[in-house]
Amino acid sequence: MKNQLDSIKETLLMGPGPSCVYPDIYTALSKPTIGHLDPKFISIMDEIKDFLKQIMNTENSLTIPVSGTGSAGMETCFVNTIEPGDKVLILINGVFGMRMQDVAGRLGAEVDTVEFEWGTPAIPENVKEQLEKKDYNLVAVVHAETSTGVKNPVAEIGELVKDTKAFYLVDTVTSLGGIPVEVDAWNIDIMYSGTQKCLSCPPGLAPVSFSDRAVQKILDRKTKVPNWYLDLSMIVNYWEGSTRAYHHTAPINMLYGLYQALYCILDEGLESVFKRHQEAHLALVRSLDKLGIEMLVEPEFRLPMLNAVKIPDGVDEASVRKKLLEEHQIEIGAGLGPLAGKIWRIGVMGHTARVENIERFAKALAATL
Ligand SMILES: *Cc1c(COP(=O)(O)O)cnc(C)c1O
Repeated sequence: MKNQLDSIKETLLMGPGPSCVYPDIYTALSKPTIGHLDPKFISIMDEIKDFLKQIMNTENSLTIPVSGTGSAGMETCFVNTIEPGDKVLILINGVFGMRMQDVAGRLGAEVDTVEFEWGTPAIPENVKEQLEKKDYNLVAVVHAETSTGVKNPVAEIGELVKDTKAFYLVDTVTSLGGIPVEVDAWNIDIMYSGTQKCLSCPPGLAPVSFSDRAVQKILDRKTKVPNWYLDLSMIVNYWEGSTRAYHHTAPINMLYGLYQALYCILDEGLESVFKRHQEAHLALVRSLDKLGIEMLVEPEFRLPMLNAVKIPDGVDEASVRKKLLEEHQIEIGAGLGPLAGKIWRIGVMGHTARVENIERFAKALAATL
């Protein structure tokens, strides 16, 4: 019988995710599956929580990976902390801000937005004005907007939200493991991430963290969390305490993968990992400049791990992506929404973020153009 998996070739993943996977993670994924209540596995879970706290810079005891991709992390954060009628403010400058608006709206929240031009960051002054107009239960923003390559001023906005009674919710799916994320110092109450971007693990888990104040809000809910699978008040009984209770079977081998990903990052050192991302990003900008290709975002707001680049005039963008994949085994991403057909999104995330990968890509792009 023919097996399709035999013909999978390794691809240099330079799109908006997934990113290339560290070889050690493939080894970790193939370790023997053990029981989800085996003491050895519980000990691995405990260290994962500890590793996550180090990478997120938080003391939050509710810091765990949710079973599901980054979007499950988003859903977990909103579904646990919002009740119908809650007043929610979402800052939008790309696709993932819009997705937050959709998720919060489905939960019966009263959702307001402050919108900013795609390709530019959220402006704290505008957020301040809106916070003075109305009392909110929750304010949400995306740290690294993967649809545009913009870094939002999460720390500055956190200073503003701190002076109100609102919870501060931040999407760190693309930022975590590529640039600093300071949950406690930035007054973040609720955050989620994903494994497939700068953590360089295959898609499938969503690390989340909740401050004690946010945990209290969950405990004080008047209504049950309207989603059984993502209800943290039940999930914590599996992730915390001296005896652990079954909720759903943990994705054992994916958690080995996450353990190894966090191990690799902490072993290399967070500072070196961030530096590696920045160096690869600068190498990319230089090689694109040589080809006459411009960046969408102003230098000070650029994300190192997600580069939005303007497609040169007269170039058929889809056929360039197709050729890169077919002839060079390199994947890059297309633009989304209003930026479709206008930009490519070039990911420099996690294990991909190495100057030698940039050089290989630059050669392939030059040949293709
Ligand atoms: C990728 C991404 C998500 C969604 O993650 P999935 O793993 O695709 O579910 C959410 N937010 C941002 C900013 C992302 O880049």
